[in-house]
Amino acid sequence: MINALNLLYSKSSAARILGLEYNDIERIEIWSKVIWVKPFNRKASMISKKVFKQHFVDIRKQRSLSLQLTEHLYNSNAFTVRNPRKDTHYTVYLVEDGLECECEDYLNQIRFIGKACCKHCYRVLNHLGHRSLAEYLNDKSIA
Ligand SMILES: [Zn+2]
Repeated sequence: MINALNLLYSKSSAARILGLEYNDIERIEIWSKVIWVKPFNRKASMISKKVFKQHFVDIRKQRSLSLQLTEHLYNSNAFTVRNPRKDTHYTVYLVEDGLECECEDYLNQIRFIGKACCKHCYRVLNHLGHRSLAEYLNDKSIA
């Protein structure tokens, strides 16, 4: 079950940050400023929440690189973003206050964080010449 905390502070993120496999992590605990991570057969590590938040963004940007984008002929605010590995595709729309996607990750971020930028949205931002949602919104407001 995804919730507000494990969306950001997950065992899989902890494993990637430490360069380990998911199954190497025995358990994690969310403390006030750090995440306590205990791999099997190793000493525990403490990783700051800031590192997890940066990883959350970086992994989505990285995963967006292998996605294929198609512009819509009659709607310049819509893009189809396809994952050739999984053969899935989502439509991303440019809307007044950002971008919208229909994927599970996007919907979970909206639900638990209140704003969202999934790998499909990062693919569109990259296509439009922006590195982040904040940069896109800022450029849009002064355009
Ligand atoms: Zn998405």
